Amino acid sequence: MQWETVIGLEVHVQLATKSKIFSGASTAFGAEPNSQACAVDLGLPGVLPVLNEQAVAMAVQFGLAVHAEIPEVSVFDRKNYFYPDLPKGYQTSQMYHPIVGPGEVEITLDDDTTKRVRIHHAHLEEDAGKSLHEDFHGMTGIDLNRAGTPLLEIVSEPDMRSAKEAAAYLKAIHSIVTYLGISDGNMAEGSMRCDVNVSVRPAGQPEFGTRAEIKNVNSFRFVERAIAFEVERQIELIEDGGKVEQETRLFDPERDETRSMRTKEEANDYRYFPCPDLLPVVLDQAYVEHLRDALPELPADKRERFQSELGLSAYDANVLSASRPMAEFFEEVKNTCGDAKQAANWVQGEFSGALNRENLSIEESPINARQLGELITRVMDDTINGKAAKQVFQALWNNQGESADEVIEAKGLKQVTDTGAIEAMIDEVIAASPAQVAQYCDAEPEKRGKMIGYFVGQVMKASRGTANPQQVNQLLKEKLDAKL
Ligand code: ADP
Ligand code: MG
Repeated sequence: MQWETVIGLEVHVQLATKSKIFSGASTAFGAEPNSQACAVDLGLPGVLPVLNEQAVAMAVQFGLAVHAEIPEVSVFDRKNYFYPDLPKGYQTSQMYHPIVGPGEVEITLDDDTTKRVRIHHAHLEEDAGKSLHEDFHGMTGIDLNRAGTPLLEIVSEPDMRSAKEAAAYLKAIHSIVTYLGISDGNMAEGSMRCDVNVSVRPAGQPEFGTRAEIKNVNSFRFVERAIAFEVERQIELIEDGGKVEQETRLFDPERDETRSMRTKEEANDYRYFPCPDLLPVVLDQAYVEHLRDALPELPADKRERFQSELGLSAYDANVLSASRPMAEFFEEVKNTCGDAKQAANWVQGEFSGALNRENLSIEESPINARQLGELITRVMDDTINGKAAKQVFQALWNNQGESADEVIEAKGLKQVTDTGAIEAMIDEVIAASPAQVAQYCDAEPEKRGKMIGYFVGQVMKASRGTANPQQVNQLLKEKLDAKL
């Protein structure tokens, strides 16, 4: 039997506001436990929430970025449940009238093809506090600093058909929210987490199977692994004559499996009702249009422009548009050297390699985009050869110079293209290598091409890497062949 996987994601994004969604308390990460929750966040009697306009603006920006309808009116509801990290006894959320209506996101798959995933809606809500199990023996600690942090919950349609597609979707959402600057997207700190809904059905069956919801998966890799495990589990269960229960499960990265947490609750279990403390949010057209005008160029548009205008391959365009710092760095390199392909090669090659080796982000790079662009210019105008360029790059990386020109000058790396000078070096090498010359002359003609490598190496060494390699090759061949 052939099975098809069906996946829908609910992504929770912490919005990068300075204060909470309904109070003035700080949202900064990593503060002393319980130092950043105020009376409103704690739900003490006699206080009233005030909606943070920044959170509204950020939600609308996201909606516009995914081509969604922005309804004129949205309403906050209370979702009632008891849990120690929720002292109010309800979470303020949006159930029936979310701030962002249906939209869509373009995702890029491994083979560089794209696919559209529909967004069902996105709504604003507040985060809860955190239960801390590790530091307390036989007890649980509660840190309420996170209570009231604004969340945008982005709910997809069940449009994904593999773990890879789900990860690609999550990456697309990550890239959109970080481009917009509405979230830092830091998954390790919980700024972005997702609930993964998974079901399977026999290939060709129009109805969906029963889904399980895996809660709070917090890395791209875990999303893929949780889905892989869950798909296996469901298929085996059905093939053994069992039935998938609609339930909430937890992914355990240590054991690489999902475990049942509780049976799925229904909306009516929560006794949703409109929050009497908050007015409906009414957005006028001008406000929305003002936000639309201020949108930055988004990843999908950049990717498209990098291909159509700059002539980059789909692969290059995709890598270079994935994050905004990467895209901006690349564009400045390209503008400095004037060649998109060269800029793309250097940014993805030498530059990204060096960042990865030292585990640095682009913002922490010791070499800036202008310096790299100028270095590439000196390769393109033949001032230096490829080998010297790597040395210049290293020197700039190690802060041994302000600019490529300064390093080239200081280290004497200017490429030698003067035929006379190169010939003189070749003559010396040939004179110093009688045995190799004899071998060369005795070798079969088709083997000589390879043997010339030894001489090229010696001449390059003699020139400290600065001789023009094409000229060295050509002149060497002429001189050696003259000895045959
Ligand atoms: P709830 O609000 O109870 O969590 P929703 O119907 O709003 O349920 O769906 C939540 C998520 O589950 C959505 O992202 C949706 O795409 C996904 N989903 C719904 N049905 C299925 C299914 N049969 N298989 C996989 N995902 C599903
Ligand atoms: Mg849900």
